[in-house]
Amino acid sequence: MKITFLGTGTSQGIPVIGSNHPVCLSTDSRDKRLRVSVLVEWEKYTYVIDCGPDFRQQMLRANCTKLDGVIFTHEHADHTAGLDDIRPYFFRQGAIPIFAHKRVIRELTRRFDYIFETENKYPGAPSVVINEVKNNPFLLGNMEVMPIDFMHYNLQVFGYRFENFAYVTDMKTIEAAELEKLKGLNVLVINALREKEHPSHLNLEEALKIIAQVKPKRAYLTHISHMLGFHDIVEQSLPENVFLAYDNLQITI
Ligand SMILES: [Zn+2]
Repeated sequence: MKITFLGTGTSQGIPVIGSNHPVCLSTDSRDKRLRVSVLVEWEKYTYVIDCGPDFRQQMLRANCTKLDGVIFTHEHADHTAGLDDIRPYFFRQGAIPIFAHKRVIRELTRRFDYIFETENKYPGAPSVVINEVKNNPFLLGNMEVMPIDFMHYNLQVFGYRFENFAYVTDMKTIEAAELEKLKGLNVLVINALREKEHPSHLNLEEALKIIAQVKPKRAYLTHISHMLGFHDIVEQSLPENVFLAYDNLQITI
């Protein structure tokens, strides 16, 4: 399985528009972070987790010519705002499968009503095939995927486990039974916003605590704010099996 980090930034991305913060002015390419998303590829399959406002740029950058579906973690705009840009895939492949909690599907239907329209649909609008995700394993291509259920302040979010790889973003709290599902991983990707506490995101200390509890072979931190600091400096402070993800990083599992 090949994972490509399409974006590793928090909701505003890095640099933040108009910011003079030193990290926003950094010339290190690893300090430039689009909104969070990963491409997951194995055999002939290509799926993306989340589809934020940078989706078009990310798919061009990754030269992704085929898309088997979009899996959503939750409905916040930094994870969903790019849905209209599935159009090139729709024109070539037909309706694109989407996978999400039913609440997220309802939200997408409200925001992108023209995509979900069934009567007198505008000819250029893309179409999707809706797949509701419940907190049970489901099939993606030929792979069984396990949802992980957790909270982003008071909003439910799904993470996803693909065999020995799991992707968790926008977590703040998780029940013990759900945390169990993250044990025995080769690679865990998990959100770590900054050092200071935040009401809806794990900070660095909280993310490292979860990593220490579930003990993946390797962990990569994502959904990073400029306030976390320079990539180069923060990475040196991490335990030896923990890394900061950065845009365009590819890992093989
Ligand atoms: Zn987010």
